Amino acid sequence: MFIRSSNVGYPRIGEKREWKKALESFWNGQIDKDQFTKTMETIRLDSIRKQLEKGIDLIPIGDFSLYDHVLDTAFMFGYIPERFQHIDNLLEQYFAMARGTNGQHALEMTKWFNTNYHYIVPEIGQTKPRLVENRLLKEYNLVKETFDLETKPVLLGPITFLLLSKQYERHEWRKHLAQLVPVYVELLKQLSEAGVSFVQIDEPILVQDIDDDIIDAFRDVYEVFHRDVPNINLILQTYFDSVSHYREIVALPVAGIGLDFVHGNGENMKNINTYGFPKDKILVAGIVDGRNVWKSSLAQKATLLHHLANVAEQLIIQPSCSLLHVPVTTKHEHTLPTELAGALSFADEKLDEIRMLTEYMNGNVTIDELIKYDEQTNVYFAKLHHEQEQTTETVPVSRVPYNERRKAQQAHLQLPLLPTTTIGSFPQTSNVRQARMKWKKGEWNDNQYKSFIKKEIAKWIDIQEQLQLDVFVHGEFERTDMVEFFGEKLQGMACTTNGWVQSYGSRCVRPPIIFGDIAHLYPMTVEETVYAQSLTNKPVKGMLTGPVTMLNWSFVRDDISRKHVLMQLALAIREEVLQLEKEGIRIIQVDEPALREGLPLKKEKHASYWEDAVMAFRLATSSVKEETQIHTHMCYSQFEHMMHVIDELDADVISIESSRSHGELVSVFETYEYEKGIGLGVYDIHSPRIPTKEELSEQIERALRVLRPEQFWVNPDCGLKTRKEEETIAALKAMVEAAHEYRERL
Ligand code: GLN
Ligand code: ZN
Repeated sequence: MFIRSSNVGYPRIGEKREWKKALESFWNGQIDKDQFTKTMETIRLDSIRKQLEKGIDLIPIGDFSLYDHVLDTAFMFGYIPERFQHIDNLLEQYFAMARGTNGQHALEMTKWFNTNYHYIVPEIGQTKPRLVENRLLKEYNLVKETFDLETKPVLLGPITFLLLSKQYERHEWRKHLAQLVPVYVELLKQLSEAGVSFVQIDEPILVQDIDDDIIDAFRDVYEVFHRDVPNINLILQTYFDSVSHYREIVALPVAGIGLDFVHGNGENMKNINTYGFPKDKILVAGIVDGRNVWKSSLAQKATLLHHLANVAEQLIIQPSCSLLHVPVTTKHEHTLPTELAGALSFADEKLDEIRMLTEYMNGNVTIDELIKYDEQTNVYFAKLHHEQEQTTETVPVSRVPYNERRKAQQAHLQLPLLPTTTIGSFPQTSNVRQARMKWKKGEWNDNQYKSFIKKEIAKWIDIQEQLQLDVFVHGEFERTDMVEFFGEKLQGMACTTNGWVQSYGSRCVRPPIIFGDIAHLYPMTVEETVYAQSLTNKPVKGMLTGPVTMLNWSFVRDDISRKHVLMQLALAIREEVLQLEKEGIRIIQVDEPALREGLPLKKEKHASYWEDAVMAFRLATSSVKEETQIHTHMCYSQFEHMMHVIDELDADVISIESSRSHGELVSVFETYEYEKGIGLGVYDIHSPRIPTKEELSEQIERALRVLRPEQFWVNPDCGLKTRKEEETIAALKAMVEAAHEYRERL
């Protein structure tokens, strides 16, 4: 059997984020359309060239995007909401849908399965789909001309596409699907005529808990593809977990089935062992972890591959999912500890692993060579990962009952009804960013930088006094990112210099890497917080990032369980909480914006995820005295099914983003009786618009229909770090006035 190597998708952003820079310069008008198109083409072709040099047989095309692949799919099939239809220029129209225009709001954005990548949610409406432009064909031809190379077009499948979209009646979904299928057929036919042999059609919805009607739809749709485009070899691609209807899926009339053999607790493998794999199909095996940054153990992978090769007649080897979710290359990391650097494998290095494994299976690389690779890696791993004994048994996970705590806190803090506060960060102006650059480059010494930060803090304490806010913050000027800031200071975590991953649109993040045992080494936030508190009589909230968010926004060591790492993080944050308390800080906020993000794709795993998340938060926050007030913050608002979890966290006060869906959130409290403090964000910080006092009063009024004045807090939706100073001050002024007026009336 001849075995081929393949890739599922390659990062778009370029080795040094050239893609981001091109996009942003184009949006700012610094480069024109021609320059932009050329730059994008160069980036795209470079990534093909690289995969070619790596020796990958099936190189994906169509995975590249100017913003997002789900938006690309909607755009290609003509799902243009009415509010954008007047825009003639296609590129302008595309970006308008992604980012909004002055008058029109953008399409919604939401998380791509259980990743930290956000896709644009298509609006189906009454649109009758049509093939506006076959971008896959264009791309295929371009690459063929440039490199004389046959590639594998990648396409989001129609069922996943529709199920991820909105603005249609769910019971009518088959009607929309029926309209969409002929358009897919047309596209596939064009590819077939151009000589395309393999097409990867992504249907990750297959790893979720899906109903039988969806499986029926799969049968119908793929039967049509098989009948109408018989010459294309379709690879039905799944990833991120095991599939939940194995037998039905492998029976679909396609050429190959792409399965993830890294995630999903080995269920795919179990199913293969139990039910076998069809002789006439290609098993497209996701072998190298596309979601994490560690080198693979190739000898182990080889064993797995031998097993698969025994079961299937034809085999293709590839990463477990698109490499979109990992940084491009380790080549530019020069500041990491050697043992860590030596243990890492980003997208490019993962392709090397794929190539090696494929060569091995084809008899061109020996097992000794794989073992040698592993031995080198193991040396690094041995130094990195060793686990300390740590016990959480003696650490409290509950506090005195809320009602008692509340009295003690109130006696201590003396807050008025409807207390006003903010979520933590104040504007990170170019001044702040430049100061940090100077310090990082060594132009400023520590003292210069520290005194700059102190000046900013003092300035904003003053502003908060003038605004008459009730609970102050120090402003987080010293932090680039809420996870990275702590990642740089905790033992067991490291930050890369160039490990960027696309989060949404042009926004990239650099997730820290948790490589060893987490431990608190020294106070991380005490100096700034205590300084801020020394300038005012109002309480200053200490600001920390919670353990669940730290875990979900990092790459995590995989030699011990995630739960274990989570508890280590919780204990480290607990230590910081206690140090803040010891230094006289009376309110401590532990942010958990990513609490929901790590929720597993399969429902059966939800309960244990929540249990661990709640446990971690409580470990981090339950050791304080009863008069110390614990706050938390979350930036999304799908709380219908989550109120019990929110409640169990047992934070004294929670602030939740809600201005864009205030109505929905308020209605949650009609049925759920919540007794603790809560602030439903009264205005949207994502927009530069200054809310009026009247709107703000209305928001407060709405909330008070379901919540008691004794429990309601008045605050913006989220941190103000992306806003301008004038905007921030004007908006907060209106907010405080609205709260004061309302307070008078109570
Ligand atoms: N305290 C953080 C801030 O204000 C919270 C950020 C967040 O919720 N993502 O920036
Ligand atoms: Zn937030």
